[in-house]
Amino acid sequence: MRALTALPIDDDVLDRIFTFCPTFSTLQSLMLTSKAFYNVYQTHPRSITRAVAYNIVGPALPQALRVLRYPYGDDSLEDDSESRKKYHEEDAHTMATTCPEDHDPSVIAAREKMDLQQDAKLVQKLEDIYSLTKKDRTSKTSVLTSDESWRFRRAMYRIMFYCKLFPGSRYSLEDMDELPADGVKKIQLQRMAVLREYPTDELLQIYGVVRFMRDVLEEVCDEDFGPNNAVDVLLTLGPEIVLRVWQDRSYESHEDNLGFSLFDSDDDIPLYQGYFSVPLQNIWTARKVTTPPKDDEPATKYILDSVVGANDTCSQCPTPGGFKLITAGNWHRREFSPTQFLKNRLRQTMWISSPFLEAVIKMRRYKHEYEDPEEDSLARWFVAVFDTPGKPSEWDAWTKDKSYCDKCFVRFLEENAWRWWYAERVRDGWNAPENCWYGYNCKTMTHRQAHAEGKNHLCVPTRGDP
Ligand SMILES: [Zn+2]
Ligand SMILES: [Zn+2]
Repeated sequence: MRALTALPIDDDVLDRIFTFCPTFSTLQSLMLTSKAFYNVYQTHPRSITRAVAYNIVGPALPQALRVLRYPYGDDSLEDDSESRKKYHEEDAHTMATTCPEDHDPSVIAAREKMDLQQDAKLVQKLEDIYSLTKKDRTSKTSVLTSDESWRFRRAMYRIMFYCKLFPGSRYSLEDMDELPADGVKKIQLQRMAVLREYPTDELLQIYGVVRFMRDVLEEVCDEDFGPNNAVDVLLTLGPEIVLRVWQDRSYESHEDNLGFSLFDSDDDIPLYQGYFSVPLQNIWTARKVTTPPKDDEPATKYILDSVVGANDTCSQCPTPGGFKLITAGNWHRREFSPTQFLKNRLRQTMWISSPFLEAVIKMRRYKHEYEDPEEDSLARWFVAVFDTPGKPSEWDAWTKDKSYCDKCFVRFLEENAWRWWYAERVRDGWNAPENCWYGYNCKTMTHRQAHAEGKNHLCVPTRGDP
């Protein structure tokens, strides 16, 4: 059929092309290309919009839409005691079944399109982290299969929904004290009712993703500080905070999102005790699940069909390491002080270590200054050290694409960081003076600037201790 476009292309082919748009803005640009294009879009606006939404969100679109569409109730009312009261007295079943996951969304509003894209970006980033830490340590972007990715995302949107429904921002510590005697119990029943709507295998997937979120939070939570269940409390802030905590390696700036301060309470906060684990445990029992998940066993099996390199050893020694091994994929997560890699007395020689440190830091913030916290790492410098020309042949097998245990990685850098610094300075036009006999072991350089700079110390000693 060519009636509408009068282009050398069928309308249904054009209609099909519309459905391949990767974002709503691409769709918008395409439909505004010409009147003819717009007319074709207007023949099936809903099915095209839905197709593009699927391209953005994937098969978890029904779960993603429920996050946006659920009538959560108004938290922001000035005098909210009434709405709160109504809230925690709400019938658990009604709460759990309201606004169910819609598998055939016919209309997607403009505001929803924006929110869908934003949430999809967040879930994508979390999937990248999940993939890096649980599936394949060598890739910074997700290598989950489409089935694995679907399980992960569906569970993540359902967790997002749960956290919005039972947020840690709702009550202050005083509010919690004022809850009626059975208030905590009622809220726990509501939580169980919401989770009970899902089949057991999909609940196990939620459990698997919650375990991943706990891992990220546990890394930054100090057990000796704040309430015992700080991780449970932080979980109530939802997936977005888990991503920020991962990026910042700290939760301190996100604690403000709670209705109270974690540090005001040394005791457990009963309302958030077992935020996910209590209702899930009750469901496993009620459903007589024969092998319920255990917290001391890996939970990745609920999401992943296969894991890459879990039993790998260091490329240079027999140390086992699996996901703990250092690779280009996780360099950006490692906290090192660059000067620790300066060989022997170079480290104590400020006339050498300060300009060295300055040069490394400059590389670290080279391109996207602070834009992406992941960029603010030593990754770019590690690449440069691995790529430094003129290293002795014993280092030939040490390449940037391999995996290393901590010890080998540090040894490589200690032996080669000064070589990088030498090459870097020469590249910048430095005319290297004659080598000091004692090279990087020289004592004099640590206290005499004229000697430190008058001779080259970025070299292997040719004589013993002076
Ligand atoms: Zn090793
Ligand atoms: Zn010297």
